[in-house]
Amino acid sequence: MTGDRDYDVIVVGGGSSGVAAALGAARTAPGGRVLLIERYGFLGGTLTAALVAPMMTFHSPKEQVIRGIAQEIVDILMARGMSPGHVYDTTGYVPTVTPFDAEALKEVELELLGAAGVDLLLHSQVVGADVQGHRLCSITVQGKEGQSRFSAKSFVDATGDGDLAYYAGVDYEFGRPADNLPQPATLKFKMINVDIEAVKNYAAAHPGEFRLGERGVKGLLEARHISICGFFSLLEEAKRKGEINLLRDQVLFFSTPFPGEVIVNMSRVANLKDLSSATLTKAEIEARRQVHELVAFMQRRLPGFAAARLVATGAQIGLRESRRIKGLYRLSAEDVLSGRTFADQIACNAYPIDIHSPDGAGVVTMRINEGKSGRAYYGIPYRCLLNAQVENLLVTGRAISTTHEAHASTRLAPVCMAVGQAAGVGAAMAAGYCGRSGTAAKATERRKPMAAAEVDVAELQRTLMAQGAELGLDMA
Ligand SMILES: Cc1cc2nc3c(=O)[nH]c(=O)nc-3n(C[C@H](O)[C@H](O)[C@H](O)COP(=O)(O)OP(=O)(O)OC[C@H]3O[C@@H](n4cnc5c(N)ncnc54)[C@H](O)[C@@H]3O)c2cc1C
Repeated sequence: MTGDRDYDVIVVGGGSSGVAAALGAARTAPGGRVLLIERYGFLGGTLTAALVAPMMTFHSPKEQVIRGIAQEIVDILMARGMSPGHVYDTTGYVPTVTPFDAEALKEVELELLGAAGVDLLLHSQVVGADVQGHRLCSITVQGKEGQSRFSAKSFVDATGDGDLAYYAGVDYEFGRPADNLPQPATLKFKMINVDIEAVKNYAAAHPGEFRLGERGVKGLLEARHISICGFFSLLEEAKRKGEINLLRDQVLFFSTPFPGEVIVNMSRVANLKDLSSATLTKAEIEARRQVHELVAFMQRRLPGFAAARLVATGAQIGLRESRRIKGLYRLSAEDVLSGRTFADQIACNAYPIDIHSPDGAGVVTMRINEGKSGRAYYGIPYRCLLNAQVENLLVTGRAISTTHEAHASTRLAPVCMAVGQAAGVGAAMAAGYCGRSGTAAKATERRKPMAAAEVDVAELQRTLMAQGAELGLDMA
């Protein structure tokens, strides 16, 4: 061990939810000590390390349901020409998609954390937890220099995989109930020199070969930023001829903010049994084989790709689903699909349930039913972030407490950011910071640290709304 450090709030994991959590905590606890620990040398998590884009989605069919820090990041990216903002989804899968440049996102997140006074520790992997009674007292961090121990009043697990919760002994689930298999993993890749007009023209001539949004071919031809889901027959033919061998039935790619550049979401490694290094190594090798096969297929067979070139793959394979904690409330498919709201909701989301088959080629989509409420979004309760074993540990992002099906809606990046902001505010309040009461800012007032479940939820919600978050609640 090399030294001890003590913080008010420690956030582990610098991805979508972790960055929002650290910012939410620092803004709730001005003058407080907030530390963000990340195993890579950069921020952004799956959005940068696994090249996932675009962000999906900030909107229900009728309104914007995610704002706060997530929107703030998009606004800065737009001001720098690094995102067009929320644009029409030409596949019609969701109301809007938000393309962005991953390199710019890394920079913007660093700047925001610096401005908020968050301490940052990169190249540091959390590998252990010391729990005394029901409290997490310290965590063990592995760096090149060896192991160090850090303590805090409250902690946020934003590792996406629930690593810290796992080390702290929190109950969890993995995959679907029948066989514990999670959604498949995908190594995304970026291609440049794609002739987007040729792609559009082919789709316009063969509309039955593509999934198109409500604006149809016209919407596709007019769009500056396109999402493409299709080329069904060309893919099928290549599979039949043995040119490619993978569990996919559609070509799927998305424009970045830059002309001729696309992110391809097509490799698929199914039957993932666990998160062990051996399993993930096999997955990386198989995904890389698929990527190179796919690139050759696209260059050879797809209109618009003859001169296209592979320029990047993710630094790691993207995991759609890993550990999900068993929390104080487990969000279900019924909650999602019925557009349920909760008195303790801290975020809302309009993304459908989108399950890529854990062991096959298809995708199952279940849409939120507007029903009588006319609301095509649902709420996420604060209790999904909390657990019964460790009272000062909140879990955010991909690993919150849901069923396998509900997770297929809560796993998307914008909602991970929204939940992250709430986790950060909740952690700061559990560390003894007041947040805001009504309009009177009492942010520097201190109380004794408490269990995250003891935080005054109404005050948490008001603090989030004062920070610009959308909660889907009328609390005026
Ligand atoms: C193939 C694929 C396609 C997707 N498509 C889309 C899409 O089109 N649009 C969309 O919005 N979402 C998409 N998603 C989902 C979305 O990208 C992620 O679920 C979301 O970004 C997760 O955010 P997070 O903060 O929970 O986790 P992550 O972004 O994974 O962040 C976790 C962070 O914690 C760090 N970390 C992990 N373990 C440790 C540890 N022990 N110690 C220290 N640091 C650690 C990681 O390095 C990482 O930076 C996709 C996901 C995948 C895999």
